Amino acid sequence: MQMNENGECRICGAMYDLSYEDDIKAHKALHKKLASGVQPRKIREFSKAFGWAVACNDGGLERLKSDYQNSDPEIGKLAVAFSWWNRALDYGVPVKDFDSYMEAHLKFIDVLSSENNDEVPNARRAIKKWEKFAG
Ligand SMILES: [Zn+2]
Repeated sequence: MQMNENGECRICGAMYDLSYEDDIKAHKALHKKLASGVQPRKIREFSKAFGWAVACNDGGLERLKSDYQNSDPEIGKLAVAFSWWNRALDYGVPVKDFDSYMEAHLKFIDVLSSENNDEVPNARRAIKKWEKFAG
């Protein structure tokens, strides 16, 4: 599991000090839940916000658009990656692949959402082993 420069895990968003055994255990336990299909709270809140906005059709989509327009794109990337993981689970992906699947797919999403088209073939190759779970 990779931590970013702030010590935050890109997949679950948790900050752990991986020099402590208890933190390592807690982090592994959290990833085990996520691998089984549980989504991080911020992804659930993201889905729910859009769901309510569409359900109520009261201008919520416009409000969300302004909320998210200039925000960190990471929440969107994670929503896509967790949706793909959920689909892969439905198609029988081995749960033990969760961390490597998410890392490879987040890199793929980084490349697709950037202007750097030169990296697309490499990123696509990195996710190829899971294409049978893409449905
Ligand atoms: Zn994590």
